[in-house]
This record gives sequence, C-alpha cells and structure tokens, in this order.
Amino acid sequence: MTDLEKRSDRSPVPADWTYAPAPESTDIVHLQERYGLYVGGEWLETKEHFTTISPRDESPLAEVAQASEADVQNAVAAAREAFGSWSKLPGSERAKYLFRIARILAERSREFAVLESLNGGKPIKESRDVDLPLAAAHFFYYAGWADKLEYAFPNRSPKPLGVAGQIIPWNFPLLMLAWKIAPALAAGNTVVLKPAETTPLTALLFCDVVRQAELPPGVVNIVTGDGSAGAALVESEVDKIAFTGSTEVGKAIQRRLAGTGTKLTLELGGKAANIVFDDCALDQAVEGIVNGIYFNQGHVCCAGSRLFVQESIYEPVVEKLKKRMTTLRVGDPLDKNTDVGAINSRMQLEKIEELVAAGKEEGAEIYQPPCRLPEKGYWFAPTVFTNVAQSYRIAQEEIFGPVLSVLTFRTPDEAVEKANNTPYGLSAGVWTEKGSRILWMAQRLRAGVVWANTFNRFDPTSPFGGYKESGFGREGGLHGMEPYLDFE
Ligand code: NAD
Repeated sequence: MTDLEKRSDRSPVPADWTYAPAPESTDIVHLQERYGLYVGGEWLETKEHFTTISPRDESPLAEVAQASEADVQNAVAAAREAFGSWSKLPGSERAKYLFRIARILAERSREFAVLESLNGGKPIKESRDVDLPLAAAHFFYYAGWADKLEYAFPNRSPKPLGVAGQIIPWNFPLLMLAWKIAPALAAGNTVVLKPAETTPLTALLFCDVVRQAELPPGVVNIVTGDGSAGAALVESEVDKIAFTGSTEVGKAIQRRLAGTGTKLTLELGGKAANIVFDDCALDQAVEGIVNGIYFNQGHVCCAGSRLFVQESIYEPVVEKLKKRMTTLRVGDPLDKNTDVGAINSRMQLEKIEELVAAGKEEGAEIYQPPCRLPEKGYWFAPTVFTNVAQSYRIAQEEIFGPVLSVLTFRTPDEAVEKANNTPYGLSAGVWTEKGSRILWMAQRLRAGVVWANTFNRFDPTSPFGGYKESGFGREGGLHGMEPYLDFE
C-alpha cells in the first residue's frame, strides 16, 4: 500500500490539497458605470436603474437599466420593424451573421468568461470550459441550418414567426441567451431578450458582439430589469414567448397566454434522479455524482439532486462520495482552482438555507466537508443528506444549490418508481455497465434527457427539455428550431 493510500484510509481524509492561489485577472473586462437598454441598435436611457453586484464579495459592478412597460413595447416595435427585412434575407446571408457572432464569441471568450464568473459567481474554469465554448457552438450549429430549413422540414414550407420574446434565468446567463437567440435568428425571427436581474452583464456585453458583427439594427434587442420587465414582455405584441426559469413563473405565463395564439415554450425546474446500480464503475460514478450536483454550485435545472444508490453498494458509495467531497475547493470564482464558487444571490442562499434546515428537522443526516468559506459574499458548503425519505422536502423540492439527497433502492423497477415520483421530469442519470439495462431504464424514466454513465453533458445538436412541471418544448437540435417556425 502506498503512503497516499494509507493516508486516504484514515477517513474522513482531509488530505492536504493545498494549491497556490491562481486568480484570473479581471483587467480584460471593461465595465461601464451605467447601462441603458439595447433597442434598435442603440443604447436607450431609462428613468430607473438598479445595481448589479458580484456575489463573491457583494461589490457593486455597474448600474443597469430597469425597463418599464413602455420601454419593453418600444423594444418589441423595433424588433417588429427589423423583422420585415431580416426575414426576407436569404438563409445563407443570415447564416453569415450567425457565423460571425460565433467567431467573435470564441475570440472574446476570455473576456466573457471572466465577466460571467464575476457577475454570476460560477467558477472561472466552468465559464471558460463549458459556458463559453457551448455558447459559441450553438451559434455555429444554428448558422448551419439557416439556409437549409426547406431540407430540415421537407414539404412543410417553414416560415419565421415574427418577434420572439425571450426570458432567461441567472444560472447560465450567456449560454441561455445563445440557446434562445441562435435558433430564433437562424429561423428568420427577430428577438427581444430579457436577462435575469442578478446577471445582466454578459447579455449587455453581447450587444457589443452584435454591433461588431454588424447585425442589422433591431434584430436583437436586450431589455434589462426584474420580473416586471419580463411580465411586460409577456403582455406585449410578440408572436412567441420562450421562457426559462422557475415552474411558478412558467405556470403564471402559461395561464396568461392561454387562448391568445401567442406560441409558448417553457423550460422549467427539475429534481433529477441520478441512479447508481451495483455493477457500475464505482469511482467513475462518484465523479458523475459530484459533477451532477456540485457543478455550478448546483444552480442547474437538470442537477442530479436525488441520488438513488442500489442498497448493496450504499456504504462504499457514500464513503467514497464523502471522501471526494473533502477535496472540493470552495471559494473565489475567479481562482482557476476553484471547484465550487459563490451562490448567485442572497435570496438564493436563503432559499438553500431554509431547505437544508427543513432536511435536518425532518430527520435526514447531514454531512459537509470541512472547508473555510470566505467572509464576504454568498457561500454554501457542498452538502450531502443521507437517511432521506421520499416525502422529505429535500427529496421533493428543487433546492437549486450544492445539496444532494441520497436515497436507496433494491430493484430496477423500484428505482424507476422512485425516480419518477416527482412533479418534475427534466433529466436523469443511469450508472451501470449493462447496455440493455440502460435502454430499459431510459424507456421508463419520465425525463427529457437521460444520461448513461455520465451527467450534465450538453451538445447543440441534442434536444433538451422537460416533461410534467419541467415544461414543454425543446431547445437544441432541430427540435429547438421548430418552435420558432410556422408551417403551412
Ligand atoms: P425565475 O422564474 O424567478 O426567473 C426567470 C426569469 O423570469 C428572470 O429573468 C425573471 O426576471 C423573469 N420573471 C420573473 N417573474 C416574471 C413574470 N411574472 N413574468 C415574466 N418573467 C418573469 O427563475 P430563476 O430563479 O431566475 O431561475 C431558476 C429557475 O430556472 C429554476 O427553477 C431552474 O430549474 C430553472 N431553469 C430551467 C432550465 C431549463 O432549461 N429547464 C434552465 C435553467 C434554469
């Protein structure tokens, strides 16, 4: 037995994973003191502003415009005006603009990654290696379809809808923007997009990419503000609303638009089951469990927040998981070694704290690895709950934080039954070496995405979306193009 193995046998480890600080410089980001709304290719002033901060230390970053109802209507009018000529451009011309945007995003990716981590709190290695490459990849991918719509939807005469209103959350600000804007533009629509109130800065920087790509004015309009600006967009004369956010707001939007003829897609919350069978590659599965729940501080709609472990391997899985958790580095999102960054906002932190307190009160057993959290900013240590019953709030409600609930099962049937026992249906994971079992499970799990022996993998060619209270409609792939088109 090597020294390292001997040491790691004295559980719980904390092995000495001391890294020298490796802070990413923020010099590349040049923020304005104050931002207006980006409408018709120009910056418009508004009466009200709010301060956007960095969750890592609560320091103010910039003043951002709060759009009023009239501002939103103005943006929709600009998009409507631009629609006439944009929709008539040959697809190959629209594609050129999208390719340009993709290339500029790739060229400016470091600037965007730093800003994303600064404003949102996610580790720089994730913004750099996941959010930015994927955002650019979505523009590249949909650029490829812009001149092939007739072939993608043969004999259906695809036509753009008009103006799309798009509302996005704070967990993947630029990536959600790309998911929404790329297919809409490729299909020939124009857009008004509202980023989340806590993370508007990368969407505002994206306006500079739009300018650099010389996109015709009014094709992309960005309006910032809180939920009231989103509600104003829903009320306005748009042809489609694409919403990503909480189930509660999604339901309200659906009620509002019922019977109006405005098209709607909803990408909502989740409470994914990550199911580990006793024949899986154990260490690989533990990495997948960690990635599934601690990636982006668990601020992931498809996070594997319910872990189902087959009873025969419950003990080794929990032991390995706890040991692995002691090596997670929690701290400054701009440090390249950081695994778990800052919680996005005080409100989100309070929600996590409330649900964790409920978990303890209901009788679950909590484990958090020893880690020193920074004094300023919003932080929550990676957490795992064992002894969890299906009825507990931590097994039912979306926590949207770095908190995992562990449950057990004996047979594949029981795993399916327990996994589907949720109002949500966004994603699931299956860990087993048997291909036939993967297929058997995938057929029965009521989830839009089922990952096999991996988790949280995304690709622009692959559709993503939910069942039940996780919403309807798909983003990504050709499926993600269809909701932006009308057919004869
Ligand atoms: P949220 O619903 O509070 O806000 C989402 C967006 O809607 C924000 O831009 C917000 O300003 C806006 N909004 C708020 N009230 C509104 C209203 N009445 N009318 C119109 N717009 C309104 O959600 P959040 O807290 O920002 O995001 C977290 C949620 O998003 C989680 O539930 C998560 O699961 C979900 N999410 C889903 C996906 C997916 O693809 N299914 C992806 C990411 C996040």
